[in-house]
Amino acid sequence: MMTQVFDTPASLYRALPSVDSLLAADASQALLTQYGKDAVKQVINQQLAAARAVIATEQRLPQWLANSTTTFEYLAQHLQQLHQLSLRPVHNLTGTILHTNLGRSQQSEAAINAVTQVMRHATPLEFELEAGKRGHRDNAVSQLIHRLTGAEACCVVNNNAAAVLLMLSAVCAGKEVIVSRGELVEIGGAFRIPDIMRQAGCTLVEVGATNRTHLRDYQAAITENTGAIMKVHTSNYHIQGFTSAVDEATLGKLCRERGIPLISDLGSGALTDLRRFGLKQEPMPQQMLADGVDLVSFSGDKLLGGPQSGLIVGKQALIDKLQQHPLKRALRCDKLILAALEATLLHYLNPETLDSQLPIMAKFARSEAEICRQAERFVAALQPLFAPRYPLRAVPCQTQVGSGSQPDTYLPSAALAFRAQAGGSLAELERHFKSAEQPIIGRIKDEQLLLDLRGADDFEQLLASLAQLGAPT
Ligand SMILES: *Cc1c(COP(=O)(O)O)cnc(C)c1O
Repeated sequence: MMTQVFDTPASLYRALPSVDSLLAADASQALLTQYGKDAVKQVINQQLAAARAVIATEQRLPQWLANSTTTFEYLAQHLQQLHQLSLRPVHNLTGTILHTNLGRSQQSEAAINAVTQVMRHATPLEFELEAGKRGHRDNAVSQLIHRLTGAEACCVVNNNAAAVLLMLSAVCAGKEVIVSRGELVEIGGAFRIPDIMRQAGCTLVEVGATNRTHLRDYQAAITENTGAIMKVHTSNYHIQGFTSAVDEATLGKLCRERGIPLISDLGSGALTDLRRFGLKQEPMPQQMLADGVDLVSFSGDKLLGGPQSGLIVGKQALIDKLQQHPLKRALRCDKLILAALEATLLHYLNPETLDSQLPIMAKFARSEAEICRQAERFVAALQPLFAPRYPLRAVPCQTQVGSGSQPDTYLPSAALAFRAQAGGSLAELERHFKSAEQPIIGRIKDEQLLLDLRGADDFEQLLASLAQLGAPT
């Protein structure tokens, strides 16, 4: 047989298998059963076209056509890629627990189970089983919210941005809304308080200065056209120095005297005291309500640890307005979200088990000593597999909460720090980790690839994946 170097293009083209012969081969049958004839044919056509291009430019057959085994392995790989879910599990070892790009909070087994059940079966989403009549979809969580926060009523929508839009649209459209200049927040992804105000048909009335706002500023801004005073929690930044703001209790008193609603966008809205983890305390919805705020909105997938959602809790009469507004119909949550949210909120009824049941709390609760111990164990097990090109060590690091919450607070943690030497490259190592069946996402800092172990879901499984992956070849 001639070596390929001497093959003429014509003989190379003739050496290409036909689509029909590939489809008829025994090795194709499993692929046809799994992916269907159309998909298999399409992939064969695409790959043969690519092979013709290789012949034209390089006068050789591509490697995958070397023999029948390589050919069908190659086709199987392409078909598998087409069918791979893009929303699949990854290891978030970025050092940011609530990573918006990685789907924010992971959820409890109880929430996962609740979602699975309502996906599989019919569920009384808008039906009262006892009374046998139509119910309201937010009822599933409003009883719990009442127990947890004391709120008279609640309304659940897609996310907190939607919650703020709905509050403003239903309560303040066509009116003025007074906000401190220190609280005109921008959250990532084009959510800015002035823009949302405009969208809701409200007129923003800014009061005070960036660093200081006083009660008299609010008092002076109230007119007969005032729709509400709004507080916005500056969750993703911190003003330090010569500052002052007016607290909710003081504003609550003013609003009651003047007959104006007081509304609050809390952002994260923790339902539990986070100081036990060494974090700062986030303002809690229950405290806001006790201070006299009429409506409080917060996210379901930030520090609450549930699914993406926005909760608005507070006075019955105002919640009724929200529920009756046409936007609510557009922003309402589906049964999966409501099931997950209900299961998440249930954990809060038992503070003793909360930290072990809710993944986000479990990660906050991990002790630095335990993470360091794990990091040392990982290094001992992995060093022989990654050195000499990618030596690793255990280094101290700092975990962030993420999602704009507590931007200046860190939890002490430990990371695996990989360096590249002897021809290795960090970019290649990063790619290699991302190519794992469950991609491993870290971050590059100071010429090291860091994997923060506070974010690990399961140390044993992670160690096994890293060991199996080994260094890039
Ligand atoms: C995060 C945040 C929002 C947006 O909440 P989403 O749930 O992401 O829509 C709005 N306001 C504040 C103060 C926030 O921190």
